[in-house]
Amino acid sequence: MKLSTEILILGGGATGLGAAWDAALRGFKTVLLEKGDLAHGTSGRYHGLLHSGGRYVLRDPQSARECAAENALLRRLMPSCIEDTGGLFVTAPADPADYADQFFAACKTCAVPVIETSPAEALQREPLLNPKITRAFRVEDASCDSFDALHLLARAVRAANGEVMLRHRVTQIIRSGNRIVGVTGENLVTGESFTIYADIVLNCAGAWAGRIAAMAGCEVKVTPGKGLMIAMNSRLVNTVINRCKPPSDGDIIVPVGTVSVIGTTDTAVPNPDKYAIEDWEVELLMAEGEQIIPSFRQHRALRAWAGVRPLYEDTKKEEQKDSRLMSRAHALLDHESRDGVAGMLSMVGGKFTTFRRMAQLLVDTACAKLGAERKCLTKDTLIDSPDAKLHTVSKRLASLESNKWHVASSTAQPPSHQIICECELVTRAQIESHLRESGSPILNDLRRDLRLGMGPCQAGFCAYRAVGIIHETLQLAPPISNSQLLQFLQERWKGERPVMWGHSLRSLEFDLHIYRNLLGVDTLPVEREIEVYPTEQTS
Ligand SMILES: Cc1cc2nc3c(=O)[nH]c(=O)nc-3n(C[C@H](O)[C@H](O)[C@H](O)COP(=O)(O)OP(=O)(O)OC[C@H]3O[C@@H](n4cnc5c(N)ncnc54)[C@H](O)[C@@H]3O)c2cc1C
Repeated sequence: MKLSTEILILGGGATGLGAAWDAALRGFKTVLLEKGDLAHGTSGRYHGLLHSGGRYVLRDPQSARECAAENALLRRLMPSCIEDTGGLFVTAPADPADYADQFFAACKTCAVPVIETSPAEALQREPLLNPKITRAFRVEDASCDSFDALHLLARAVRAANGEVMLRHRVTQIIRSGNRIVGVTGENLVTGESFTIYADIVLNCAGAWAGRIAAMAGCEVKVTPGKGLMIAMNSRLVNTVINRCKPPSDGDIIVPVGTVSVIGTTDTAVPNPDKYAIEDWEVELLMAEGEQIIPSFRQHRALRAWAGVRPLYEDTKKEEQKDSRLMSRAHALLDHESRDGVAGMLSMVGGKFTTFRRMAQLLVDTACAKLGAERKCLTKDTLIDSPDAKLHTVSKRLASLESNKWHVASSTAQPPSHQIICECELVTRAQIESHLRESGSPILNDLRRDLRLGMGPCQAGFCAYRAVGIIHETLQLAPPISNSQLLQFLQERWKGERPVMWGHSLRSLEFDLHIYRNLLGVDTLPVEREIEVYPTEQTS
């Protein structure tokens, strides 16, 4: 396959999709390449917090200001992805008492909306909070569903005539002298190779941006900063709770959908594709959770996972080796002035919350390089329809009730509203419609799109039903369906294993009985695996 375009974007996370949306809206011929699915990288593995800016007011005031402004804007542009939970910064007994006053003053300086409230009011709002908190501040934090946000962005790119090509891995950058003119790579589903020529390439590959830059012969030092999160089985809080102290490990709990997520840790790792979840990290988060909610350990931990921060290390400033002290701010790199290689810009670092602004800066610079000044339209273009509402399981239930839903049962003609995933109320009709649209046999794509398998039973009942529907709808050979099921289960179990105690352990044992003893998954014939989690080959 050979194509040519004006703007070619590498990476389908928030930064890349934001840039593709911006470029397509400005009328550029735009193509985006992503080696995995949407939200495959860090954007699908983050903490879920639309920052108010409060976290950065003392250490990084510029980021605090940007977060506050983008927070207000994104609530208007994509309301169905954002839950207005509000946020609290609370001083727990272990936190430095003098931080609260500094925090309050710095919020005012950085235009981060803040109101001091009494500990009693905070406890009334969040009854599980530590009763020994001494100060409490209300801020504009919210929780943001990145799966939904990235799907909406991809749809917006396509609506503006841009192309989003998934499972297309870039393996080489094509140079003509000192100018980058395109890329080559591989379609990971068909195995075919592709070549795309472009007037300018935008490297938005997050924690992998250094590897893309290296393909172009440029050095960009991106340190992958691993951050662990643990999802608790229920909403322990309905408000985002932050500790009022200098940013540290395990100091935020975010209510996300039906669960609450504590995070994060931050350790530099050598490889963004290979990292382990360590016992000490799990223990640390559980212990920090108790500082915020004393009964934290008595609640069920559902799963643990990690993402990697793309922390840009300016090689000219060698001082920062502690990854938490490295800047969370973004860096826009012009390889022409920096490395003498024209035709490529890299955007590294930053936050999910500020993706739109980062994309605007990147495309503004691309416009200047192309000699085609065109106005950015993203501030005033809705990503969502204005009446779109936040996804909740209760809304799915209401729509199922009006459609006479059925639990999964074997009937000759399965009803389209048969429920396949009881935890998240995913129906056969939703799965079939997704499959017709995407053509993808990958169960993890269903998970990201429909939340299949994300509830308390962690796919104990829905994975085998869903793979049966995939098999029927896409007319697959049995070994392909089998390998999809196994890959999906392995990935679910990987996240459950680090928190295996109490109820979670019992639930996992039960799932293992279903899959191993009843269905005999260990003995199923399997076929060549589609690379669900494409990784780079490293020496
Ligand atoms: C633990 C953790 C918690 C966080 N919490 C928050 C939070 O609560 N709020 C917030 O605002 N921010 C948060 N962040 C930061 C935020 O998630 C990231 O800054 C942001 O998601 C990065 O987006 P990105 O598009 O730059 O990178 P990514 O989302 O990683 O996208 C890069 C994409 O490039 C693709 N790619 C790489 N190589 C290739 C190739 N060769 N060919 C094709 N595609 C390729 C990858 O597959 C990937 O999908 C958190 C980060 C971490 C790690």
